[in-house]
Amino acid sequence: MRVIEGTSNKYLCIDLNDRSFTVYEPAQKDLEDFMGAKGLGLKIFNDLLAGKLEEVDAYGEDNLLIFSLGVMLGTGAPCSARFEVITRSPLTGLMAASSCGGYFGETCKTAGWDGLIISGKSETPVLLRIDENGAVFEDASGLWGLETGAVQDALAPGADEGTAVIGPAGENLVRYAGIRCGHRFAGRGGVGAVMGAKKVKAIVAKGRSVRYEPVQPDLFKKTKSRTRKYINRNAVSLGYRDYGTNMNVRLAVKYGYSPVRNFRDRWNPEAERTSGEEMAARYRTKHSACRSCAIMCGHEGSYPDGKIRQIPEYETTGMFGSNIGNYDPDLIGLWNERMNELGIDTISAGGTIAWAMEAAEKDLRGSVLRFGRTDNIAAVLDSIAYREGEGNELAEGSMRLSRKYGGTEFAIHVKGLECAAYDPRAGWGQGLGYAVCNKGGCHLGSYMIALEAQVNYLPPYTTLGKASWVVFMENIYAAVNSLQMCQFTVYGIIMEALIPKYVPRFILKAAAAALPGLAQALMDWSILSDFFQSVTGIKMNKWDFVKAGGRIIRLERSMNIRLGLKPEDDTLPARFTSEKNTLYPGRNTVVPIEKMVKQYYKKRGYGTDGGPGK
Ligand code: SF4
Repeated sequence: MRVIEGTSNKYLCIDLNDRSFTVYEPAQKDLEDFMGAKGLGLKIFNDLLAGKLEEVDAYGEDNLLIFSLGVMLGTGAPCSARFEVITRSPLTGLMAASSCGGYFGETCKTAGWDGLIISGKSETPVLLRIDENGAVFEDASGLWGLETGAVQDALAPGADEGTAVIGPAGENLVRYAGIRCGHRFAGRGGVGAVMGAKKVKAIVAKGRSVRYEPVQPDLFKKTKSRTRKYINRNAVSLGYRDYGTNMNVRLAVKYGYSPVRNFRDRWNPEAERTSGEEMAARYRTKHSACRSCAIMCGHEGSYPDGKIRQIPEYETTGMFGSNIGNYDPDLIGLWNERMNELGIDTISAGGTIAWAMEAAEKDLRGSVLRFGRTDNIAAVLDSIAYREGEGNELAEGSMRLSRKYGGTEFAIHVKGLECAAYDPRAGWGQGLGYAVCNKGGCHLGSYMIALEAQVNYLPPYTTLGKASWVVFMENIYAAVNSLQMCQFTVYGIIMEALIPKYVPRFILKAAAAALPGLAQALMDWSILSDFFQSVTGIKMNKWDFVKAGGRIIRLERSMNIRLGLKPEDDTLPARFTSEKNTLYPGRNTVVPIEKMVKQYYKKRGYGTDGGPGK
């Protein structure tokens, strides 16, 4: 087996037009500055399309579909099996960077590649087989039309093979179609529709021909064991390990951030019937996680019909539970499985369906959908994936539908990407995070609700310090997604420093809001920079790590401006800024978004065009 010290720094470029491949080697400086996975993937996209970024059609042959892997993959470090899919999104028109777990990334990496850059368009359905020698193009006509599970079964991957496949939603250009890798998904922004437009039904990577060794093995070993120790004693990590991301359901009820009836309300205690704790007991769940994971948030369980199913993530539970008036967890499990088979992003599907329910209630648009009606949801999901009847319109997403029929004030998206299941009226920093996120209504851009509610580090109903924290957390997460390590490790790592751990919470909260820079400096995320340095040998400290994150956010922002992003897009749906009264028994508020966006621009140094300039 070939041994590579550090990382290969080789991306396999696949041209679908003439069915050829070449090798692309990013400059060493780009690896240093943009780290890998998300950052380096964006840089490559930017450089390869330098003169014509503005002209790239998401469904056209110029659009690139980049699988960008990161330096941690294949090292066996905890929570390192993830990678990024980067492309121009057909849903938002902006850059999409979607994170994914599963075995595909690891097999690609251990075939010797740091990523795949797919360009052009095939005339007929194609299956790509990747190994250390490059790519082989096979006819996939027999697979076209199959759902994701059936494709994976037909490909029957061996122990050293991983797959990335699309379902009917990707083939039919549903604007929020995803890519399935084993039981994990690159869900957001329509990356599956781009793969469908290129007529790539599946990619099989055959790995295990390369072994990676860190350049600084002692530092790597020490950092690995520190990470495991921290994760194993962190309350958030342990909650995820026991109950998955649905651990959030009870917290959402407690703090009032549940999505209820298309985010009209932010509280309904009935949602507790869909909590992680309830599901763990009802389905006798066991772990079904990404590889090399030390947290293991993924679970599967035994449903009443006797079938073993993947337990839905919190976002799916919220969007297909309280947000559409359903409190039956069995149904959410069934629909989750259906969407996985069809290859649909559950967040955008849930947001679009909830919008259609409210639009029908307000007589803006005819629909079979109604809040609380559950008997027709499965059929509607199929109709979206196959673009039949009403589903053909729903496949366009809530932004386009609301522009056509009215109801933009309750279309819960930012920049065209439907918001995830966290009502920002419960934490204004979460609202700012949604509004300024380059990719749109993604909860994970800065995931401020964790600081404002879950770990209780920041007062939720104040603008004080929020811009600084959003900038800081965006930088950390952009760098984490470039390393790539799972974002869920971050709390186990940054909460370990002595001051955040032992200072009384009320003092910590006041200090974090009033003196955010100082509070951030007292945290310690050196594990993350130590991992990058130990694998690559490139010197990096904790502040270099944050700087790299900021550089990546600014690059993504400047690319988006060229793709048409305007400052007025950095806002929230009117519901969150003007509808105060929800059913939450605690404090009811709206999000003062304009003030916070101004503060954020100042912190980032953005100009009147909403970007960093040159
Ligand atoms: S914590 Fe969850 S999402 Fe993250 S690597 Fe582990 S199983 Fe995957």
